[in-house]
Amino acid sequence: MNAPRVAVIGGGLAGLAAALRLASRGAEVTLFERRADLGGKAGEFRHQGFRFDTGPTVVTLPDVVEGAFADAGVGQAPVMEELDPLCRYRFATGRVWDVGRDAERTAAQLPEAQARSYRTLLEEARVLFEGAAPTFVHGPKPGALALLRYALRHGARAHPFRTLPGLVRRLGADRELEAFFLRFATYAGADPYRAPAVLLNIAWAELGLGTVSMKGGVHALVRALAEAAERSGARLLTGAGVDAVDVEDGRIRAVRAGGRRWDVDAVVSAADIEVGRRLLGRPAAGRVAPPSLSGFVLLLGVAGREPSGAHHTVIFPRDYAAEFAALRAGRLAAEPTLYLSVSARSDPSDAPEGHENWFVMVNAPPLPEAPTADPLASALPGGGRTPFAGPPLLDLDGEVASAAERRYAGWVVEELRRRSDFDPARLRFWRFVGPRQLARLGDRGAIYGAAPLGLTGALRPAPRLPGVANLALAGGTVHPGGGIPLVLLSGRNAADSVLAGAAKARPGVGSSLEAGPGAV
Ligand SMILES: Cc1cc2nc3c(=O)[nH]c(=O)nc-3n(C[C@H](O)[C@H](O)[C@H](O)COP(=O)(O)OP(=O)(O)OC[C@H]3O[C@@H](n4cnc5c(N)ncnc54)[C@H](O)[C@@H]3O)c2cc1C
Repeated sequence: MNAPRVAVIGGGLAGLAAALRLASRGAEVTLFERRADLGGKAGEFRHQGFRFDTGPTVVTLPDVVEGAFADAGVGQAPVMEELDPLCRYRFATGRVWDVGRDAERTAAQLPEAQARSYRTLLEEARVLFEGAAPTFVHGPKPGALALLRYALRHGARAHPFRTLPGLVRRLGADRELEAFFLRFATYAGADPYRAPAVLLNIAWAELGLGTVSMKGGVHALVRALAEAAERSGARLLTGAGVDAVDVEDGRIRAVRAGGRRWDVDAVVSAADIEVGRRLLGRPAAGRVAPPSLSGFVLLLGVAGREPSGAHHTVIFPRDYAAEFAALRAGRLAAEPTLYLSVSARSDPSDAPEGHENWFVMVNAPPLPEAPTADPLASALPGGGRTPFAGPPLLDLDGEVASAAERRYAGWVVEELRRRSDFDPARLRFWRFVGPRQLARLGDRGAIYGAAPLGLTGALRPAPRLPGVANLALAGGTVHPGGGIPLVLLSGRNAADSVLAGAAKARPGVGSSLEAGPGAV
């Protein structure tokens, strides 16, 4: 009877994690998702017997994924299997490097000096991760005291005045090893050349703790969370965008969705932080930092199987710094890093027999601030190469690509042909997701909110908006940041925060609930 009524806005991984946590602790939860399907960026596309994840493909910190279910005592994470190699790297020199969790096996493939540098950088990443994770990953947004404690214990060791490339070079990396270690900063949406040294810690999450493939794909996690949340009593509504919230005396009293008013005691907004601001009638944040990276993704139905192919492959360009110089200037790189993920190599049921499901992603700049007719047009790289002319190209909502999107997609396929052994004749169909499509989920198509620029910029925004007592924010644009495990943690933190707040605001309400720390 005393259960607080909590609305969760957004049915991505963060919103689902919050709904599960809240419902399993006895709150009366209604989750509102604007789109027809749950998952948000962690979407799924099925076509002609192929299955694709449309967003995240690399799963790190599997313990956090399992924890979301174990904490709730309901449901189970999808079956996860550690990948070996974690990823295959191809360099412009032709060198191929299989990187695994076995550091010695990984280092043994390098020339002696680089093997030494690899071990040193890996150890440095471990120290930085273990220093930072308790404060910046696992807990609620650190306050002044927690920051001071971190600064005293680990601050000096975290190279506060060094950039990431500065640190990587200092520890002896050559150009190839430098690109390899810098790339992990893009997992936080950072321009690695403007990232603080401490972001080297992300490398440990993958190289030291491992990455997994998920049975049924990453989207199976969305299904598992949704099922567990519903079993715990949460109501999950799709096609139900929240258009407005009613605020009275500094508290949200109701949310409005689908022409209906829903009375609430508290709200978790697990959509982009800018959605929360808009709903509360706040102006967009004065940008202290530009938006983080966006991406351009191709989903390719490909004939033929490559039994020796890796699940994940990264194909580096000749000049990694030039790629980010272009992105910084709002342009697509002339020779981008190509990231390829083929889940059918771990789970053959993801493609029809004799075929593979290729997810190909390149970094892209976020959309320009002032909307233009075809925003990608101004971002297209120069160069006289002729793009691959394939079949008609649609996005995942079935909309036809713009002229610039079509051209760029053809250009990426041509790059793939030029820099790997891919033969476009193997292509059965293609679909794409670009910055314009990602802008349906995140401000200006940025995947991770504001770019983590510099030391203080690497701290993610607080998961609340001042002046509204019963609102907590979750998701990749707030603390602790983007990426599967971090958004799951943000959902948990937000749930605990509103439960603690509800119990405080109305003694008796939620008295039987088990709230965690961090009341708003
Ligand atoms: C191409 C791509 C590749 C990625 N690769 C990786 C990877 O390999 N590994 C990794 O860990 N992470 C990766 N990420 C990042 C990861 O996908 C995200 O950090 C995470 O999925 C974000 O989850 P979220 O719940 O915070 O936000 P979202 O998934 O964006 O969910 C927010 C939801 O809110 C809904 N919404 C918005 N407004 C409203 C409203 N008014 N009312 C109701 N609902 C609303 C949206 O429709 C959406 O479903 C990738 C992302 C992309 C796009």
